[in-house]
Amino acid sequence: MTEKTAGRHPRDCQVVVIGAGIGGLTAGALLAARGFDVLVLEQAFVPGGCASTFKRRGFTFDVGATQVAGLEPGGVHERIFRELGVEPPAARPCDPACAVYLPQETEPICLWRDPERWRAERIRHFPGSERFWAKLDQLFELSWDFNAREPLLPPVRPEEYLALAAKLRPRTLLTLPYALRTVADLLSDYKLADDRRLRRFLDMQLKLYSTVEANQTAALYGAVSLGMTCAPRGLFHLEGSMQTLSDRLVEALRRHNGRLLTGQKVTAIHTRHGLAAGVTVHDRRSGRDWEVRAAQIVANVPVWSLPELTGAALTKNYRERVDKLPEAPGAFVAYLGVRSEAVPADCPPHLQFLYDYDGPVAENNSLFVSVSQPGDGRAPQGCSTIIASSFTDAKAWGAAADYTAMKERYTRTAIELLGRYFPDLEAHLVHVEAATPCTFEHFTARPHGFVGGIGQRPSQFGPFSLSNRTPVENLWLVGDSTHPGEGTAGVSYSALNCVKLLEAAVS
Ligand SMILES: Cc1cc2nc3c(=O)[nH]c(=O)nc-3n(C[C@H](O)[C@H](O)[C@H](O)COP(=O)(O)OP(=O)(O)OC[C@H]3O[C@@H](n4cnc5c(N)ncnc54)[C@H](O)[C@@H]3O)c2cc1C
Repeated sequence: MTEKTAGRHPRDCQVVVIGAGIGGLTAGALLAARGFDVLVLEQAFVPGGCASTFKRRGFTFDVGATQVAGLEPGGVHERIFRELGVEPPAARPCDPACAVYLPQETEPICLWRDPERWRAERIRHFPGSERFWAKLDQLFELSWDFNAREPLLPPVRPEEYLALAAKLRPRTLLTLPYALRTVADLLSDYKLADDRRLRRFLDMQLKLYSTVEANQTAALYGAVSLGMTCAPRGLFHLEGSMQTLSDRLVEALRRHNGRLLTGQKVTAIHTRHGLAAGVTVHDRRSGRDWEVRAAQIVANVPVWSLPELTGAALTKNYRERVDKLPEAPGAFVAYLGVRSEAVPADCPPHLQFLYDYDGPVAENNSLFVSVSQPGDGRAPQGCSTIIASSFTDAKAWGAAADYTAMKERYTRTAIELLGRYFPDLEAHLVHVEAATPCTFEHFTARPHGFVGGIGQRPSQFGPFSLSNRTPVENLWLVGDSTHPGEGTAGVSYSALNCVKLLEAAVS
């Protein structure tokens, strides 16, 4: 199929991808590049999902994701763009990756890009923690070494267990004693359980990457996510906006003759003799429903969407597993366009604040803040964008009788808290807007506005994570609900795994 048929609804294709988030676009582009006839259907009017952008009064705001891992040579995004034959988006490394402010402190803990500098920083801030960090470094190296062999996780079929076993090396076995432990367990091992500063610093960082704090985050996942910020890996700030990541993936999809149709919501997945067979689509522009047959379906949706989309085709066991998953959080995000006088000189692109030691890393007690950088294309001359997000109880927003007042209250509190760091913030505000879990549910079709996947607890991580396979033959799941979890790099890895499984299934 080519762009010439855009506007007409195709009746058949080899692979339908439901959703053009980074997971769906990556899977779609890779499948197209590997010779599949691919149709990507996106319910929103722009692709990118949680990593898209919107524009207001000359400002470009990143909706959710603001920083990207995996763009370094050999990183997951870089490898995928190389295979697709498309240039990765232009990006600058973040150094520090983040400046973290603990309650009542004025000097931040900076996650420097240079590993030696970061090592010195963490020991200066957390004296006595050397052995704890050394253990995390060791687990990072062992896990990275294992991941470099591209294991397909989690194994589901006997042949996948065998393939996984072949990826193990004697040194991988050193990680086994930590497989069921949390980061907080490691703190206890090193007699650091009472180090409140270190514990809360870890809670803040881990919550960003795994949606749960140190007492619930799998130690091996924690080690990998905490080690990602340093060279030769690191986090990157995209030039222009986050949308450039999806733009490049769409370019790759089209270059390889795949198609993307926006404003097309998949309302049902059909099966025939137990196999995925096609989808019903609601065209949001014309209001009409249409159907497309496909031999393979890749769903880039949160796992909570699958039961409704598949109806009776999903097995009882899988449905129960989904029902039993702990609820994911939602996000409250304040998008501010400001005059640059409000931004301190040399302000790092990412800051994180905790305001009260005893409060949660959520609900405006903790803000993760992204600030546009001079010349990065997000703000008009003399202005900047400040985006502040916090985790929040997603369902509370859907049930709120005073939704509008609650949104205003959260926005005011966020501005007041940000004013402690950004001088005269209120006086320099040009544009103020906010998103709640209801906004995310509306624009990204994520049930309840749940974000961040299923949480990287030991019971849900690695071999225990959700597979790209679903119980419906030829229906695949891709994105942040599946291994290895959230983040644009995580969902790209998930897409790569899914493509390998799908290719093997049809060969
Ligand atoms: C506030 C916030 C901040 C974040 N910060 C970062 C960060 O700095 N760095 C980072 O790496 N990650 C960050 N993340 C996480 C990251 O954005 C996500 O993990 C990732 O973008 C998810 O990609 P995905 O493809 O799995 O899902 P999504 O982005 O949710 O994409 C799924 C797509 O499918 C579409 N869709 C859903 N249902 C249907 C249907 N029935 N029919 C058709 N289309 C459908 C949706 O509209 C959407 O476009 C952040 C997330 C949030 C919410």
